[in-house]
Amino acid sequence: MELTLADFVLLVIFGSCVLVLAFTLVSRTLHARAEGRSLARRVVCRLCLHAFETRENTEILTCPSCGAANEKGRPRRLG
Ligand SMILES: [Zn+2]
Repeated sequence: MELTLADFVLLVIFGSCVLVLAFTLVSRTLHARAEGRSLARRVVCRLCLHAFETRENTEILTCPSCGAANEKGRPRRLG
């Protein structure tokens, strides 16, 4: 297969586009993952609003302040 200059230029442009896209995806994924990790650890009790961090992998967590069961994850906004 013969590679002409036009083919080469197209290849370089296409390659840099792919590189930029890959870099954007990787940095976004890393950022989202770091953010999600800190968010997943932070729990605000729905009863007493006591904020605490956990490293447990369970979905239901017990508030160390009042003992209420809390679901892990982002607090749901009402309204
Ligand atoms: Zn509580």
